Amino acid sequence: MSPPTRFRGQSLRTQISLVFALLVIGLAVLLSLGFGELLKRRVQSDAGHALRTVADNASRQLANGLLERSRAVQVLADAPGIWQKGLDSPEVHQLLARTQAIDPYSLWIGVADAQGVVRAATKGLLEGQSVRERPWFIAGLQELHVGDVHPAKLLEQLLPPNASGEPYRFVDFAAPIHAGRATVGVLGMHGSWEWTREVLESLAPIGIQGASVDLFVFDRAGKLIFSPQEYRSQLEAGGQHLPVPLTVATRESGALSATVVPWADGKNYLTASVRMEARNAASDLGWHIVAREPVEIAFADADRAVRMALAIGLLAAVLAAAIAWIAARRLSEDLYALADAASLVESGKPGATIPLVTHNRDVHQLSAALSSMTQRLMAAHEAMEDQVRLRTLELEAANRALDLQARTDALTGLLNRRGFDSKMEFALALARRSGRPLSLVSVDVDHFKRVNDSFGHDAGDEVLRRLAQTLQQRLRASDVIARLGGEEFAVVLPDTAVEGARAIAQSIVDGMAAQEDPLVGRITVSAGISSLREGPDNAHEMLRRSDAALYEAKGQGRNRVCVEPEAGQALK
Ligand code: GH3
Ligand code: MG
Ligand code: MG
Repeated sequence: MSPPTRFRGQSLRTQISLVFALLVIGLAVLLSLGFGELLKRRVQSDAGHALRTVADNASRQLANGLLERSRAVQVLADAPGIWQKGLDSPEVHQLLARTQAIDPYSLWIGVADAQGVVRAATKGLLEGQSVRERPWFIAGLQELHVGDVHPAKLLEQLLPPNASGEPYRFVDFAAPIHAGRATVGVLGMHGSWEWTREVLESLAPIGIQGASVDLFVFDRAGKLIFSPQEYRSQLEAGGQHLPVPLTVATRESGALSATVVPWADGKNYLTASVRMEARNAASDLGWHIVAREPVEIAFADADRAVRMALAIGLLAAVLAAAIAWIAARRLSEDLYALADAASLVESGKPGATIPLVTHNRDVHQLSAALSSMTQRLMAAHEAMEDQVRLRTLELEAANRALDLQARTDALTGLLNRRGFDSKMEFALALARRSGRPLSLVSVDVDHFKRVNDSFGHDAGDEVLRRLAQTLQQRLRASDVIARLGGEEFAVVLPDTAVEGARAIAQSIVDGMAAQEDPLVGRITVSAGISSLREGPDNAHEMLRRSDAALYEAKGQGRNRVCVEPEAGQALK
């Protein structure tokens, strides 16, 4: 699975170009192969037609040659004026010699009597010898005869050596000689097979394909009877037979004008085969004229065409890929711009927004969607931050309220014990640093239990609230007033020495004693005072000492103020 993964890792631009290039290359190869194949077929069919034409021409020439000779023999044999003077008359000799002179391929022309004895012949060859066993004589007694090619039998020794150096081969022509109703003899002619070579060699190079086309002749049985000299021994040794099936070879028209066929030499040839159409019944020898051309030559143009089409296709593919590369850059540029802007927005850069890109509709849509989404997200983010700020403020206020609650006495609104402790510590530290005096007054309601018992708990509460009010009225704002628990109160007096404290405490005690409540009557309080000492002293100690002074005041009869004894002295 590595290629797809590698592909996924590529940039959009590379991906688009790759896909496009592959598509175009595929298309180009397919198209060029298709066109190439079409072209190839066309060229092959042309080559086939050319071959076929060569074979057709050769066939016609050979058929004409056979017709002319057989006609010549027929015409000679049908001339009664000549034969009346005897088959061996000087006129006959003269006629035979002239006839041969007209057609040099007539190697031998002679007349045999009805018994098969040669009575007259060109150059006197075979005169007096018997030819009654020869097929041409036997057939010639009956009618006009054309005999298929065969090696020379009797004449081989008598003729001068063949120009080509090969043994003589003949095509025989024979016709009966009549005197009235009777057949008195046979006129025979041996045509040289070299005539065929002459005809075919004169034809082959004229073909469109030039010298690479060769012509062959096969007889009725499919046996090779003519081949260009250079191939003959090889083909005969290989047992070369008519290479194209007869049904195909004899078909007249169109598609099967030529086919590729393996020959006995082991090579493939484009091969066209034509059955020679005889011009008269006697010369219908059933020959097949075959033209062949090596496939690599016959199809060279076709192969070139395919290669050319492929080359043009690939060139087009490369061009298309380059165009795709350029086009992909434009598309991906927009996307890269979006991605960059998104990174800026994500990093929280102030003022960063998603730009609107307009190069193409989809990316424009995407950028518009991203832009509005970002704006909405950013707005939502800001709203959320506002809300968080508000909630934090509320929370802080609530905390402060809670804190105040924790330090405040619910009944009187004064500080409670906890609030007292922290304010006391603060006042103490301040006094120590400034070297100024600090006093503490403990206040307790006298016989408070009785108030509760006689008038009820609510009335007791009311007394406590009234005491709180009295304290607040008579003290400074900077003084610290607290209810430490039950009906016990404490007052911290900063910047106040013991005498000042005593005066203040006395005014509180007097202030309470002066009040007459309609329900509970007169309620008095007692107070005890302690002041910050030089040297080691603390809040706990001061409270203990003011409580001790308060206890002293209770002991002395209540409704009064007692001051702690000075350091080192007992209480007064
Ligand atoms: P003393 O003159 O010696 O101080 O006598 P007392 O009765 O005032 O002292 P004691 O400590 O014996 O009694 C205090 C009473 O205060 C007991 C309790 O019922 C009452 N008390 C304490 N806290 C409250 C409160 O919040 N409201 C009311 N109504 N009464 C309270
Ligand atoms: Mg008490
Ligand atoms: Mg009391």
